[in-house]
Amino acid sequence: MADCIFCKIIAGEIPSKKLYEDDLCLAFYDIEPLAPKHFLVIPKEHFASAAEITAENSSVVADMFEVIAQLAAQEGLDGFRVVTNCGPIAGQTVHHLHFHVLSGKQLGSFN
Ligand code: AMP
Ligand code: ZN
Repeated sequence: MADCIFCKIIAGEIPSKKLYEDDLCLAFYDIEPLAPKHFLVIPKEHFASAAEITAENSSVVADMFEVIAQLAAQEGLDGFRVVTNCGPIAGQTVHHLHFHVLSGKQLGSFN
């Protein structure tokens, strides 16, 4: 999608510190990490947020969670948190579905 920063990362038009890539998704480090380990997993197909997941397209979410488990093991994460912000009220700033994976320190409770 034009003007989507994550679509541009997928297309290689914007650089990223890539961790993993397959036909369906991409994982890369967050540019402003909120924890010692903070990476993002995104689908290659553009969905604005988790609110666009349906029975027809939800298999990509299963793929992304397989990738998260694989990367957590690969990176030796001793526990981690998966977060997706959906809409401005939740603090979503990039409107391309992404799962934050946070680890490497004791994480606080939600608010
Ligand atoms: P959210 O606020 O949940 O929409 O998360 C968007 C995340 O994308 C933020 O944590 C940003 O730091 C991150 N981000 C924005 N631009 C880039 C980029 N070019 N490379 C890596 N992460 C980015
Ligand atoms: Zn996009």
